Amino acid sequence: MKIQRNILLNPGPATTTDTVKLAQLVPDICPREKEFAELLSALRQDLLKIVHGDPEKYTCVLFCGSGTLNMDVCLNSLLPADKKILIINNGTYSSRGVEICQYYNLPFIEMRLPFDEIVDFAELEKLLQENPDIYLVYTTHQETVSGLLNPIREIGALVHKYQGILVVDTTSTYALLPLDIEQDNIDFCMASAQKGIQAMTGLSYIIGSIAEIEASRHYPKRSYYCNLYLQYDFFKKNGEMHFTPPVQTIYAAKQALQEYFAEGETAKYHRHLRVHETILANLARLGFKTILPKEKQAGLVAAVKYPDDENWDFFKIHDYCYQRGFTIYPGRIAATNSFRLCSLGAIDVIDIENFFVVFEAALRYYQVSLPIRYN
Ligand SMILES: *Cc1c(COP(=O)(O)O)cnc(C)c1O
Repeated sequence: MKIQRNILLNPGPATTTDTVKLAQLVPDICPREKEFAELLSALRQDLLKIVHGDPEKYTCVLFCGSGTLNMDVCLNSLLPADKKILIINNGTYSSRGVEICQYYNLPFIEMRLPFDEIVDFAELEKLLQENPDIYLVYTTHQETVSGLLNPIREIGALVHKYQGILVVDTTSTYALLPLDIEQDNIDFCMASAQKGIQAMTGLSYIIGSIAEIEASRHYPKRSYYCNLYLQYDFFKKNGEMHFTPPVQTIYAAKQALQEYFAEGETAKYHRHLRVHETILANLARLGFKTILPKEKQAGLVAAVKYPDDENWDFFKIHDYCYQRGFTIYPGRIAATNSFRLCSLGAIDVIDIENFFVVFEAALRYYQVSLPIRYN
């Protein structure tokens, strides 16, 4: 079977290998069979291994849904009755965390920062000192719209000093940047199969502290489908997901994990970095500017400012590239229009070089001046 290979430069779902796509074609199976439970068990262990979690201390809980489900589950499940959440917010995804707190009416404090600034540690410490009722501190590892990297290890150290837990949205860094759950001071992290592991949408996972999940058994239950303890407990007793899992997506994830470990954490990380470097070099050659300076970027997303050129029309450029197998993605940051070129997925330098041939042709076709003009 020949499947057209599209290069997705959007922030997930990412380009997958054919072997991962084809792994979904399996004989029909009832997911309550022992064979399937064994598959889930191996999958959970492998997902834990990616962040080097000690299985005595950490576990992986699977859910059926996209990445936002993990954020919902962690925020609604891990807050004791008389405690507060602190959200360190410097981007779109942490703002989504704020909205989840609002929807559940959870008590929270928002530490709002500009999209290009990381937290000031002295200010964070002061806030934690003055608010001893903060228990759950939440932030996003990489803000996927801007590409900003947050210093989670340092944040986690402070959170632990004040007896809190750190929940990090690692959806766009898990299996992309090397992570060590314990050394990085993470109590809970999360991801979704369509991002770092280069598999299919529909399977999401939360990896975190067994002791904290056990403790959450007595916390208020604010959701039925999206409760972490209930799902964890079902896995513990039955080795399965509480409700119907995304069967074929799970077979694809299994294949993707085999490919992840065959490539290796470091080699994969370096592949993403060289893809990102190639993107930055080509953008600079054409005169494009990124929203963030290089040293603030995680090295996985280039957020690019729209040119000040009357012939620039993102959607026309997008369509030109899309018809030729390359997908680029718009995004607004503060008041600035931008588009994104992301380095996740089963792609390498050659794909980026091929993309820039098409992208440059699109710019010339629509008579956007080169080098790119900014006022
Ligand atoms: C992709 C992503 C999510 C999840 O988005 P879904 O559309 O629900 O899959 C959450 N957080 C971050 C940082 C992401 O990049």
